[in-house]
Amino acid sequence: MKTNDFVFSHEEVKNLHHYQFMANMHPFTCPNRGDGNHFDNGSDLGALIPTIQGWICQSCDYTQNWAHEWMKKSSEK
Ligand SMILES: [Zn+2]
Repeated sequence: MKTNDFVFSHEEVKNLHHYQFMANMHPFTCPNRGDGNHFDNGSDLGALIPTIQGWICQSCDYTQNWAHEWMKKSSEK
């Protein structure tokens, strides 16, 4: 499936970002978000940000390189 180091395609990042910020569902969040050094970025406390290199946390060095398959696909174009 992957032919390079990137985890997600541009399209997938766009869809994942939609799910994090626009969809009415619980977003992926950082497991360290309860440490007092995380903030609500408009999605949730410590909500992860999708990039082509995987998920990143804006408040610590946590990363995540997978997402549910259904999340990568857009429900709307
Ligand atoms: Zn974090």
